[in-house]
Amino acid sequence: MSFEGLEVGYDIPAKPGMAVSDIATPALVIDLDALEANLRKMGAMAAGMGVALRPHGKMHKSADVARLQHDIGGASGICCQKVSEAEAFIRAGITDVLVTNQVRGAKVDRLARLPLLGAKVGVCVDDLASVAELAEAAARHGTELRVLVEIECGGGRCGVVDPADVVTIAKAVIDAPGLTFDGIQAYHGSLQHVQTYADRLKGFEAQIATVQAAIKALTEAGIACPTVTGAGSGSFEFEGRSGIYTELQCGSYAFMDVDYGRIEAEGGGRLDGDWRNALFVAATIISKTRPGLAVGDAGLKAMTTESGLPTVFGRSDVHAAGVSDEHSNLSDPTDSLKIGDRLRLIPGHCDPTCNLHDWYVAIRGDTVEALWPVTARGKSF
Ligand code: PLP
Ligand code: MN
Repeated sequence: MSFEGLEVGYDIPAKPGMAVSDIATPALVIDLDALEANLRKMGAMAAGMGVALRPHGKMHKSADVARLQHDIGGASGICCQKVSEAEAFIRAGITDVLVTNQVRGAKVDRLARLPLLGAKVGVCVDDLASVAELAEAAARHGTELRVLVEIECGGGRCGVVDPADVVTIAKAVIDAPGLTFDGIQAYHGSLQHVQTYADRLKGFEAQIATVQAAIKALTEAGIACPTVTGAGSGSFEFEGRSGIYTELQCGSYAFMDVDYGRIEAEGGGRLDGDWRNALFVAATIISKTRPGLAVGDAGLKAMTTESGLPTVFGRSDVHAAGVSDEHSNLSDPTDSLKIGDRLRLIPGHCDPTCNLHDWYVAIRGDTVEALWPVTARGKSF
């Protein structure tokens, strides 16, 4: 990608080769050493557990990160949450995409067209009418869609509740030309950030019982279930070791955030002891008018706070006290910060934070190595 003619600080936050200290802030920064370590680790863990890895692309929305997950991180495809997001990834060259969501109405037609761009495309269903809509659209375009029946396994969101209904819907998929029944989607979203490991394990035990009931019903009806997919960064070891799941969908492990960092890991440490923080919002101090307070230039338009305030990477002496539209107030009890000082903030929640930015500034050590577009930014249709 050429950045000729583009101005740092107006069009783009940085150019490859620049010093990290010259990045225009606020900017979304990826520490490549940390990212690569996380990707390799998850790839090795999935391989060790004998399951496939299909990381969730809704977290980073970046074709470059997805490619790296494939090239060094053991990923065999990616997940998306929205049709427009899948389309952005496929246009950028990603060829195996599962939409881990219900797709209804006019969007079904867009989805059914995606295989024409040369990609393998999967989608989830949780009712019969959805199967009919997908089949009709696939027939219209002469395409093939992989279909997973989503089950409600504790998250309280989408998904079939009764195992008998799983069988009915799976049979409808099998009977529909243009659709291939691929198995079960079973993701327990509300389990992921539960603080203690023991409580997460307890939640998983209920989850796996639900998944087993669905598989039993399919087996009794003579229906093979090649794929059982799900899992996030707070639970994936349970699914991976279950002997029942065949594929993991973790997303946040690649970047991490404050909300994930503070939950308890297996063995008693914190999750940010297992995974490195690879995502930061780079900020600069722009005001210091009172003792104990410094103000940074990264606010709610650079990071979201619905899962909590950011923390300041590498500094135990300063912490975020509040974030407003364009500012972060930093408590600085020893008045160590001065105008122009740079900080790396770890965002409270990685996914929605990434969607606020056009670019990732990928750094290694003190140098900007690459500038990556947030490929599917704003693709929430
Ligand atoms: N799978 C589905 C269906 C999800 O909705 C999510 C995230 O919300 C994930 C996987 C990835 O989870 P995480 O980012 O917590 O690892
Ligand atoms: Mn998230």
